[in-house]
Order: sequence, then C-alpha cells, then structure tokens
Amino acid sequence: MSLTEEELQESLLKDGHKKFRARQLFQWLHLKQVFDIRRMTNLKADFQDYLLDKFIFPDFKILNERKSPTDHTAKYLFAFGKKQVEAVWLPYQNRQSLCISVQSGCSLNCSFCATGKIDFKGNLSAAEILAQVYGVQQLYSRRITNVVFMGMGEPFYNYDSVIRAANLIAHPHGMNISRRRITLSTSGVFTGIKRFIEENQPYRLALSLHAVFPEKRNLLMDIEKKFPYEEVLEYLRANRKKLQPGQLMFEYIMIDDTNIFPEDAKELTRWAKLLNAKVNLIPMNTEFNGMRPPPQEKINMFWKTLVKHGVVAVNRKSPAKDIDGACGMLAGKYLKPSVL
Ligand code: SAH
Ligand code: SF4
Repeated sequence: MSLTEEELQESLLKDGHKKFRARQLFQWLHLKQVFDIRRMTNLKADFQDYLLDKFIFPDFKILNERKSPTDHTAKYLFAFGKKQVEAVWLPYQNRQSLCISVQSGCSLNCSFCATGKIDFKGNLSAAEILAQVYGVQQLYSRRITNVVFMGMGEPFYNYDSVIRAANLIAHPHGMNISRRRITLSTSGVFTGIKRFIEENQPYRLALSLHAVFPEKRNLLMDIEKKFPYEEVLEYLRANRKKLQPGQLMFEYIMIDDTNIFPEDAKELTRWAKLLNAKVNLIPMNTEFNGMRPPPQEKINMFWKTLVKHGVVAVNRKSPAKDIDGACGMLAGKYLKPSVL
C-alpha cells in the first residue's frame, strides 16, 4: 500500500506481469479501498496468488471508537502491532476533516501536550498512515475532504513516510484529495522545513509557534533549544517566494498568563505580516500540566489585536474535547476498550 503506481508497475513488469495490472491494483487499494486480494474481482486467481506471495497487505484494526454526543466528532484507536495511534473525524458544515497520526507517541515533549507524555513507540510507515484515512473513510458515507497531519507525533521526524502518504491520498487515481486540503503541522523541525521548501511540496504547512520570544518558547517546547524559531522564520522569510499564497500558517495556543500579553500580540503580528502567514489561534483546550486556557475576554482581546493590525487570524474552537480528541489530547486513553 506504500507503493506509488509507478513503483508497482516496475515491480510487476519485472516479474513478467502486464503494466495495466498496476493501475488496477492501485485503484483497488487507494480508490475502492479494498485490501483483501480475493475480493479484487477483476484480477485472475493466479495473479492474486502471486500478489499474496510477493506483497504484504495491511492488516489494521480499529480497536475503539468514541463518538462525541455534542459535536459529531469521533476518535478512533488503531493498532499496528505494538504501535497504537489515534485519528479524529471532524465533520463541519462544508467539509469533513480527518486528523491523523504519524508516530505512536512523540519523541518531543512539549509541556502542554498529552501525546508527549506517553511512551514513544516509533514511526508509522506510509501504509499505516494511510490505513487511518481509509479505515475511517469506510465507516462514513460522507467523503473525507481534508486531511491534517496533526494527530500524534512530529511529521518532520518521519518525513519520507509522511510525504509518501500525502502523495498517495492526493493521487488522481486514488482518493484525489486536493493538495491544498492536506496540511502538515510541525513543531519547527528546521531540517524538515528546509527540505519541504526545497522540494516545493504543494501541501499546506502549519508551524506550531506558540511563543514569539525565545525564553518563553523554551519553557513550552524543548525543540526551541535545537531549532530556534527565529532561525526557522528568517529562513522562511528569505524563501517566501517559494511559498504559495495561503500555504503557510502559524498555530498559536493561547495559554493564560503565559503567551497572550500585548507584547506577544505585537511580535506575533510582526512575524505574521512579514511572512504573510495566517494565524490559527487555539485556546489551550483543557487544564494540563499547570497551564490553563485563558478566560474568553482575554482570548477575544488577543484575537482582536491581531486582526486590527491586519493579520488574518482565526480563533479556532477546539472540537472533540469531550472525547479527548482535541489538539494535544491524543494519548490513547479509553474508558472501555472494545473491538469494533
Ligand atoms: N507535532 C506536530 C503535530 C501534532 S500536534 C506539532 O506539534 O505541530 C498538533 C497541534 O496540537 C500542534 O499545534 C500542537 O501544538 C497542538 N496542541 C498540543 N497540545 C495542545 C493543547 N493542550 N491545547 C491546544 N493545542 C495543543
Ligand atoms: Fe509532539 Fe506536537 Fe505534542 Fe509537541 S505538540 S509533544 S511536537 S505532538
């Protein structure tokens, strides 16, 4: 399932099979999302035998489903061997988003994030990333229109598999999800950001900034020591012609008494305008690790200051809170595990 159509072709041709079989197989997997070879009805039995012998097909299980009674979101627990991950279904009026994971746990340890506190079990393969998209899509008649790589883990510490998975869900012979509706979120892994820009990747890039002063960011995110955000932002500024309009956005969690003072608003405004980046403001979604969301008036004031100075800032509500599915709450916590 990780292979591109061209790679499948190459492999099949080498073994003496016809080229068009690659397209058929690709469509079964990525368009019809059928993973049982015996159900691929237009493939001859001996070709099915060959496939079963040659390839490993994904074997994934959804271990649990938690549906929100209030906002129609749902959270799914997947297991790939010992690696457990979660994906969150987020229906809106005009789109259906799926938030997916790229690692089981996270090797980073941002102070506000529950995922960073659980055991890190490693990277997912491209097939395991895709299994979340296809696995959840099979449960719904409404089409997934947007995919956000904002679940567990750091996409740019699993760069190859993440880009491969994104390419496969955007492929016109597969789900054909628009590239502008696929978003990768990074805590600021500079090496990955450079590669992403140099390769002219078409996906949207969300940079989790959360603070615009080094001392403050250091307290919130360990990664600031390794990759200071100012270097990342300066690099993006120097390369801003390589970014499409609307491709870059900042994510900024609002934490009470921490990062929403007037000087924060001013500095965030400066960077957002320099880079022409939209700002996604997310009130910290729950009290955690001694931090809490600000009261509504402070949230509004911070948001208004940005907007007044010409920044496109969205004050995003955190959906899926009551199922522990909101940003940063994915930690594999389930009350009653059950197999669907
Ligand atoms: N590791 C990547 C992507 C996964 S985290 C990253 O950090 O960008 C996805 C988003 O959820 C990030 O912007 C992250 O900062 C945010 N997040 C984490 N914990 C949160 C919390 N408690 N409240 C609100 N957002 C949170
Ligand atoms: Fe990892 Fe992102 Fe959570 Fe930080 S916010 S611990 S980088 S998942």
